[in-house]
Amino acid sequence: FDEIKAVDTEIAEAIKEEVDRQNSHIELIASENWVSKAVMAAMGSPLTNKYAEGYPGKRYYGGCDYVDVVERLAIERARELFGCEYVNVQPHSGAQANMAVFFAILKPGDTVMGMNLAHGGHLTHGSPANMSGAYFNIVPYGVNDDGVIDYDSVREIALEAKPKLIVAGASAYARVIDFKRFREIADEVGAYLMVDMAHIAGLVAAGVHPSPIPYAHVTTTTTHKTLRGPRGGMILSSNEVAKQFNFNKAVFPGIQGGPLMHVIAAKAVCFKEALQPEYKEYQQNIVKNAKALCEGLLKRGIHIVSGGTDNHLMLVDLRGTGITGKAMEKLLDEANITCNKNAIPNDPESPFVTSGVRLGTAAVTARGLQEADMDQIAEAVSLMIQCPDNKEKAKAIVKELTERYPLNV
Ligand code: PLP
Repeated sequence: FDEIKAVDTEIAEAIKEEVDRQNSHIELIASENWVSKAVMAAMGSPLTNKYAEGYPGKRYYGGCDYVDVVERLAIERARELFGCEYVNVQPHSGAQANMAVFFAILKPGDTVMGMNLAHGGHLTHGSPANMSGAYFNIVPYGVNDDGVIDYDSVREIALEAKPKLIVAGASAYARVIDFKRFREIADEVGAYLMVDMAHIAGLVAAGVHPSPIPYAHVTTTTTHKTLRGPRGGMILSSNEVAKQFNFNKAVFPGIQGGPLMHVIAAKAVCFKEALQPEYKEYQQNIVKNAKALCEGLLKRGIHIVSGGTDNHLMLVDLRGTGITGKAMEKLLDEANITCNKNAIPNDPESPFVTSGVRLGTAAVTARGLQEADMDQIAEAVSLMIQCPDNKEKAKAIVKELTERYPLNV
């Protein structure tokens, strides 16, 4: 930090302010987390200086001996962690991993089924605003009135649409996803199954959520959400499917240039951490904390889409409170609680306003907060829903918690 300050006081100041913000706020954005110091250090290492287009042993640049060691270790560890044969650790992000798989399997105009963005899907699963929606014929599926994926309806849509690819996985879905069922549907209609496990990858690594690996033809993920690694993406599959579609070629030179070797080193460090026994406990605690937060909200009369959660997140349904998702995000921010507005199924409001907020527990659990603390967070959220004048009371709860669990950065 001192080195940055010596060169660039403006950036140093912004970083300091951001660290203070992270320290003084309760972080409930479901896709965020806090990485270890080792992961952070690998990201800030001199590996950022190195060009390494290609793959270990087959690079387009000299001097790649040591980055080859790094990439091979990242691959081996990811294979062990997720129990799969093929891994590509080069995608710069989750969106890039998804784009590479689409590029490898599909031709423009092919039919793809993905979860509706408004029902919890991700932009890269077929939103018209995204490349996936612009270049492919997207047939969306969604959740029923209880906020749960209706597999019979998914099957009916698939029988009618005959997609080449079905994408399972979500950004705002709180229930266990039945990957076996998705694969049965894919097999019945002759489609490939891609699972995007970005949100739940940490839970999957620790065996806290069923793994998609035995069922999906190909699995993509981010490495920075529950997995608790650096910002990045990854593709996993069997050797056979990887060879059939040549995922390596789809990533480089298909959609990317040189890999970010410092980030790949940080991925390797994260995977090593994830292979330790404490990691399993961390992931179990994320789920326990999510359940405790959910119960705390429910007992205060706050509605949750699908009535609960099986994973690290929940969707608060604000209909009937007179507060929109957008307003709630701002209200919680005033109380030093960070979350994001989120559409709920059949949302009457626009995607920019919404009637919900999404809350997740990966980051607070990484910080050390326990189940008992979740009731305090629920109380602070409830206070802000009741009346904005409760701000000071809510802030006092946040202050007590953030001081009890200081951020170790
Ligand atoms: N897939 C899912 C399910 C996501 O939730 C996200 C990010 O929120 C992504 C992909 C995209 O990841 P990234 O932001 O790293 O491109």
